[in-house]
Amino acid sequence: MTLHELTIAFEEFDSATELPEDEQRLILSAWEARRYAYSPYSHFQVGAAVSTNKVGRIFLGSNQENANFKVSCAERVVLDSMGAIGLKHLVNKIAIVGGPDSMNPYHEAIGLEEPVTPCGQCRQDIKEVEDIAGQPTVIIMASRNRVRRIVGIKNLLPFAFGPADLGK
Ligand SMILES: [Zn+2]
Repeated sequence: MTLHELTIAFEEFDSATELPEDEQRLILSAWEARRYAYSPYSHFQVGAAVSTNKVGRIFLGSNQENANFKVSCAERVVLDSMGAIGLKHLVNKIAIVGGPDSMNPYHEAIGLEEPVTPCGQCRQDIKEVEDIAGQPTVIIMASRNRVRRIVGIKNLLPFAFGPADLGK
């Protein structure tokens, strides 16, 4: 038997203002996108914002639920909508924010808030866009007073199954 250990790398910040300007803008856009979450069942609203290297706009997504409890997560909403217009391969950075629907992103947090993280299925989606983009995706997960920044989905999804496993 051989024991292997994996390490993951991420950066942590107390405030979004410590990040480069484009990433601060991306986080603000994700909070903005969260306003359009449709979450009458979970009462948990998530927003996601994506930037690319080539297209000078930010793409937005928010979680969308329905009565059969099928959830379209914010991350998948934005990545799929980019796919629908042929831009999935350009994904460069994604910011994700979230919290209970009672939470106002513009009010100060009471105590330290853990940033939301992508669910397993969304991690798989990020793996796919990262592979077709051919560059590590920057994943920024933010609460009101903590930001975690990860470069590359391998830090969130080790031993991922991906396009290469199907010969792509
Ligand atoms: Zn998800």
